[in-house]
Amino acid sequence: MASPRSVPHNSGTTLADLQDLERRYRRIPFEAILKQDLLRLGLRFDDQSIARSGLDFKQKDYFIFTFDHVPLADQGDQIRFRVPEEIRVRGGEFDLKSTIVSVRVNPASPYIVRASEQGPALYLEDVAGQSHSGNADAAERAEISPGTFLGLVDFPPVPGYYRHTTQSGKAPGEIAPVIEWGYLIYLTVFRNCQYFGKEEECAFCDINHNYRQQKQQGRPYTGVKSLA
Ligand code: SF4
Repeated sequence: MASPRSVPHNSGTTLADLQDLERRYRRIPFEAILKQDLLRLGLRFDDQSIARSGLDFKQKDYFIFTFDHVPLADQGDQIRFRVPEEIRVRGGEFDLKSTIVSVRVNPASPYIVRASEQGPALYLEDVAGQSHSGNADAAERAEISPGTFLGLVDFPPVPGYYRHTTQSGKAPGEIAPVIEWGYLIYLTVFRNCQYFGKEEECAFCDINHNYRQQKQQGRPYTGVKSLA
C-alpha cells in the first residue's frame, strides 16, 4: 500500500493564487475563500501532528459520507480513522479569523497540517515548495518549514456524551455523531441510497461507497441505525 505522503502534491493552488483571489474579491472574507479551497482540495496531515495530540480530540466519524479523496484502505495507519472531524485555523499569512473547516483527506493536497512547537499548524506547499511567509509575527509562532504558514490549528473537543455508550454497547458516534465543533448532532436513520446500482450512483456522492468501506474496515456500520 502506498503511503499517502509518497503521492505527488496537487499543484492546484499556490500562494500567488490565494493572494490574487484576496485582491480580486475584497468584499468576500478571505476566510471563506480559503475554506472553499480547503474543501475542494482536501488536507494532508503529517504523522506527528496527529501523534503529538495524544488523540485527545474528536476523530472523524464517517457517519454518512467520507468526502475523502482516497479510500480508507489507501490511507496510512497513522491517518486512517485518526484525523479530526474538523480543524480550526487562525492567524498566519492572511491573519485569518478563527475558521472551522471539515476535514477531507487528500494525500495529494497542497494543504498540510504539520506538528509545530505551538501545536498543529496549517501550511500551503506550492509547486516550488518554498517558504513565502512575509508575516514576521506569524513566522515567529511556528517552526520554519517549507511552504507558507497559514495559521495555527486546533482539533475539535470530544463531546462529553462520547465517553458513554448505549445500553447495547454502541458508541455515540455510531448513533448521534456531532459535527461543526459540537454545534450539530447529525441524525440519519437510513444511510444507503436505494435508487441506483453500484455503477449508477451519482458521481459526486459517496454514501454507498462509505457504507462499503466501513464494512470492509470492520466497523459496526449499519445502513439502518438501531440502538439495539
Ligand atoms: S440519489 Fe445520488 S446524491 Fe442522493 S443519495 Fe443517491 S447517490 Fe447520493
